Amino acid sequence: MPAAEGPDLMLLPRIPEPPLEAAERPIVQVLTAHRQREGAGFEVRRPFPGLDADVRDTDPFLLLDHIGPVTYAPYEARGAPWHPHRGFETVTYVLDGAFQHKDSNGGGGLIRSGDTQWMTAGSGILHDEMPPEELVIRGGAFHATQLWVNLPRRLKMTTPRYQDIHKENIRLLASSDGGALVRVIAGEIAGHKGPGVTWTPIDYLHISIPPGGRLRIPWRKDFNALVYVLIGRGRVGHEQRPIRDGQLAILGPGEVIALTAERFQESDFSDKLEVLVLGGMPIREPVTWYGPFVMNTREEILQAIEDFQSGHMGTIPATRLGETRGEQ
Ligand code: MN
Repeated sequence: MPAAEGPDLMLLPRIPEPPLEAAERPIVQVLTAHRQREGAGFEVRRPFPGLDADVRDTDPFLLLDHIGPVTYAPYEARGAPWHPHRGFETVTYVLDGAFQHKDSNGGGGLIRSGDTQWMTAGSGILHDEMPPEELVIRGGAFHATQLWVNLPRRLKMTTPRYQDIHKENIRLLASSDGGALVRVIAGEIAGHKGPGVTWTPIDYLHISIPPGGRLRIPWRKDFNALVYVLIGRGRVGHEQRPIRDGQLAILGPGEVIALTAERFQESDFSDKLEVLVLGGMPIREPVTWYGPFVMNTREEILQAIEDFQSGHMGTIPATRLGETRGEQ
């Protein structure tokens, strides 16, 4: 898994060990992602939303999709062809493989292993998220996540924007014992800032913990805290509750997130425990959700559908003659 191949951990700044008396966040709930098909038919694991967790439990986050890790056979890779969004932001993180992106404003590009792409849908945009032609034809490894971050009422209709964040710009840190690699994709940990910017303040970390490794991360008291396991087995929270790939821990209040990797890891994709640690400022507003639109009221949803159908969220750009779409 290329994104997990770190630099020399000895050369990275270390996150200071929080004081022993700092309150470790307890477990509120550990839940298992359900599987479903998205876009043109690729499988995702979705820890939330679902039967076990609604938006009040994960606010300001609306949705997390985990795709792979998987090795696609030729012509097996699928994407999400042109579709609209309004009222929130999407954060796509590619751990392995690549994704090709286009939008109705003429923006887009290729994001590769370790890269992140942020899209503020705001007032509305159409986009197309597809595997690149080479991945479709030859098959290959793929592993990615997509997080939806809600926007507060005053920013629902903000101007759409994009940020492409390349692997080189992600802030890399080491745990206090130098054993774990912490990638700060957004937010700030112990004074070290990541490059991603969302309207709603969030922390977004990808951490790789070696077998038997332990980690205590300082965490903002006013942020919520979620730990999602991408690969491996570990323990989380003050209670050190067992957790494994495809499971999400929702943590209660406190100042520190405690994580441990089990001694024996059994995945073919990484010999480490690979986790996302997410936190943000809860918005605490009513949420009305219809497919790709997330607003505050039903009237705003009806307006979104009307605006989409009348082309006010943009139109699909003309395809160049001979262009391969990667759809089969
Ligand atoms: Mn989308």
